[in-house]
Amino acid sequence: MSESNRALLSHYVTDVTGNVFALKNLPEEVAAVLFAYYSRSNDGLRENLIKLISEGDLAISSPADNAEEGEPLAGAQEKARAFHEKWVVGYGHGSVAEHAVVKLAAENVSILASKLIEDCRLASYTEKSTRYVAFDPSKAMYPEDIMASPVADVYRDAIKRLMNAYVDMQAPVIEQIKERIPRTEKQSPRAYEAACKSTACDTLRYLLPAATHTNIGLTINARSLETLIGKLLSQPLIEGQQLGEQIKREAVKVIPTLLKYADRNEYRASLHCAKPARTAAPVAVPPGQSGVCVLEPYFDEEQALTLIGLRSGVTRPAGEGVAALLAGRGLHDAPPRSFERISLTFEIVMDYGAYRDIQRHRMATLVTDNLTPALGYERPRDLEAFGLEGIFVRLMEQAHEAHDAIAKAGFPSEAAYVLPLAYRVRTLFTANLRELFHFIELRSSRQGHPSYRKIAQQVWDETNRIYPSIAEHIRVNRNQYSLTRPAS
Ligand SMILES: Cc1cc2nc3c(=O)[nH]c(=O)nc-3n(C[C@H](O)[C@H](O)[C@H](O)COP(=O)(O)OP(=O)(O)OC[C@H]3O[C@@H](n4cnc5c(N)ncnc54)[C@H](O)[C@@H]3O)c2cc1C
Repeated sequence: MSESNRALLSHYVTDVTGNVFALKNLPEEVAAVLFAYYSRSNDGLRENLIKLISEGDLAISSPADNAEEGEPLAGAQEKARAFHEKWVVGYGHGSVAEHAVVKLAAENVSILASKLIEDCRLASYTEKSTRYVAFDPSKAMYPEDIMASPVADVYRDAIKRLMNAYVDMQAPVIEQIKERIPRTEKQSPRAYEAACKSTACDTLRYLLPAATHTNIGLTINARSLETLIGKLLSQPLIEGQQLGEQIKREAVKVIPTLLKYADRNEYRASLHCAKPARTAAPVAVPPGQSGVCVLEPYFDEEQALTLIGLRSGVTRPAGEGVAALLAGRGLHDAPPRSFERISLTFEIVMDYGAYRDIQRHRMATLVTDNLTPALGYERPRDLEAFGLEGIFVRLMEQAHEAHDAIAKAGFPSEAAYVLPLAYRVRTLFTANLRELFHFIELRSSRQGHPSYRKIAQQVWDETNRIYPSIAEHIRVNRNQYSLTRPAS
């Protein structure tokens, strides 16, 4: 390789000679096309990169040399665009688009709409925590069409009432927490203060309306993003559609060709119309309660054990085989893939705050009803203990009335914004046993929010009822904590 090519490559790859190297400083679409060239070339990626650059009429130069001019890879980008137009967009070689990755920030998104963005299996998310951050009461969704309607004041008052209560209760709740759980010698005053504040956030998040603004960091490949944008643009919720447009507008600046056809999809939109506006009655969880029930059909335990234990080299009886597969599993180890052969479906009725967290499990399939007041709301035990239950109940009832008035005024989707996270929602949660190990162990842990810890424990109870000899290997935390004890 010539010295000049070696110098050029050193700006784009971490090693110019070794068999394994990372790419750097390359536009996402150029990186994707380079990987795609593997399937049509005897050359390595570096040779292809040099060809792409020279065929793109690019003078050999480094990004630093060309910083003033700004577009050192313009020719290569143009070739990449032509490739993607032909192969990815035109001939449907869609997996190439997975090598182009975008990192997006979506700020001041309502919690309600955040669930639409996070409903994507092949993406990575990090969202502002309701557990560690006291939310700013002035930041919430006020939809333009509602603000221009006769129910504007109903909406505004409903949000303000909840937000004000959330703020006003912080100090008294923190005081009560401190009275109940004094600082231990091991804790620094600063750590203790922070832990008491988080515990108060855990308790008070039930009051936050679904309109509350949050921030989301999203890392996603172009193929998945095209689907996500299409889903958002096909939503009945106007904020969802606006997010679809904004995400597309910003992401095309990074991957211009691959998102060209990210559009509203009429089929998807029709599915929303077909979905009943009101929540269906739970089929297994008793009315007026939250809870978890496994739904039929499922394999009986012998069949399940046999299916999981079937693995080359394992010739013991089925139950023993499963135990052997799990022997020596470390704290952070997942069970083997064969555990994915068996899935269970649970009907889960839970507060929307818990749903907000549980929906994040991408290996599970969640089919969820719209958020409405139909299933009632959770009463956090801690608020009762703090003597705040009366105010809480009044706030919940006022939110219900506001919801109904807004829905009746012609905003059935947007009415959910005024419902606080305490209101329940029903989901059908399907997960394979491998994911159930992860879900139960993570979500029942002491660090977790009490609302989803209880659900994880109930999911374990149900799994144990159906598959006791598998459930016994799941490290469930069965403890209840009346308050999340401040961490040391
Ligand atoms: C105590 C606690 C605090 C949390 N705080 C926050 C917070 O402040 N903000 C926030 O946004 N979230 C927070 N979360 C949620 C957390 O970050 C995860 O999104 C959530 O727990 C889902 O878990 P998961 O990603 O491990 O599992 P799943 O999505 O269920 O996936 C199962 C497993 O598959 C693998 N996997 C799945 N997808 C990928 C992928 N794209 N890349 C690599 N591996 C993958 C991983 O091994 C993963 O553990 C918190 C969770 C807990 C328990």
